[in-house]
Amino acid sequence: MALLLLGCATTYKISEKEVERIITVLSSDEMGGRSLGSEGIEKAANFIANEFASAGLSELAGSKNFKQHFNINSTSVEFSKMKINSQLIANSSYFAKITGEGISWDEENRPEILFVKEGDDFRQALGGAFSSDKDLLVMISEKHKAMFDRYYSYFSKPTMGFDDMDKQVANLVFVLSNIEEVTTLEVEAVLSTKEQELTNVVGVIEGNRLNEMVVYSSHYDHLGIGTPVDGDSIYNGANDDASGVTAVIELARYFKNQPKPERTLVFVAFTAEEVGGYGSQYFSKQLNPDEIVAMLNIEMIGKESKEGLNSAWMTGWDKSNLGELLQTNLSKVDFKFFADPYPNQQLFYRSDNATLAKLGVPAHSISTTQIDIDKDYHQVSDDIGTLDITNITNTRQLLLARKPL
Ligand SMILES: [Zn+2]
Repeated sequence: MALLLLGCATTYKISEKEVERIITVLSSDEMGGRSLGSEGIEKAANFIANEFASAGLSELAGSKNFKQHFNINSTSVEFSKMKINSQLIANSSYFAKITGEGISWDEENRPEILFVKEGDDFRQALGGAFSSDKDLLVMISEKHKAMFDRYYSYFSKPTMGFDDMDKQVANLVFVLSNIEEVTTLEVEAVLSTKEQELTNVVGVIEGNRLNEMVVYSSHYDHLGIGTPVDGDSIYNGANDDASGVTAVIELARYFKNQPKPERTLVFVAFTAEEVGGYGSQYFSKQLNPDEIVAMLNIEMIGKESKEGLNSAWMTGWDKSNLGELLQTNLSKVDFKFFADPYPNQQLFYRSDNATLAKLGVPAHSISTTQIDIDKDYHQVSDDIGTLDITNITNTRQLLLARKPL
């Protein structure tokens, strides 16, 4: 019924069968959780590019075979010495944030030393340390191990960024230890920077107006392979965000089977969302924001929203009138569109819409997942068995979004 409202001869209907076919491939174990640099993510990119090709989309300028390649720096800290009071410190008990100059600390050349004791407020202490402009060695009581481990798992991973990334001003080393006094130290570390090639997948349907674009997006990267939980180690990311990519592919195929649109439609599957949104940052900077009428970023639509099937929510509702326009249109087809019920999660600023939104484009993310209670979010259990295919298929209601745009 929704499709009829467009008043065109319908030649392609988004079906549950097609939705299931696509999401099954994208969330399969063969894709290995689609982490950056893996064979699995390359397979996923090829699959999406083939879908765009078979849908008959055109290329965006600067891309090849529907792939937009770009380079990013991946920086990690490499220690060659880590001894305090002549004791070797275990790898899992320290992490660092350092500058390009590297560290060479000993008795002659000591940093300031800060102790985070048992009764101290861990977050507050680390917050202070991170904003220090002087080199610091932060000795953290083992009583704070649980919190330390959370920071460790984040900071021990390589940092990614473009050339213009903020430069660190001070060297900071954090050590989990009950040592109460630092008499001697030998700490040596350098920054090792590698260039990594990343890939967005982009397809276009040219409209009558080439300089007016509507972007439909999602991200195809995910968390890869981790420690097994009940024998499962693959983060399939069926909901996050194979569901969104599936919707983007199906919307592309649908629109391509319609008469030439007024505005140019751009369909994109971003890489590197999970590590900081670098795919969308690069993509957004290749376009002129004045030419983008709107962006609808589709994230995790595999489960019913708290308002039930046939409803979705949008981040940044108050930032533009897009939500209201969609809501008005969708009310005709019994589909409810509402404001992000989880504003505390700051999703408007954390998702792939953020770069274009900052440039003044009405750019929002659309989701259905009850992220506050979802047990599978960023877990190995986020696989196809937990999804509701009808819920994904019903995002065809987004087709109506085209009318007011
Ligand atoms: Zn995610």
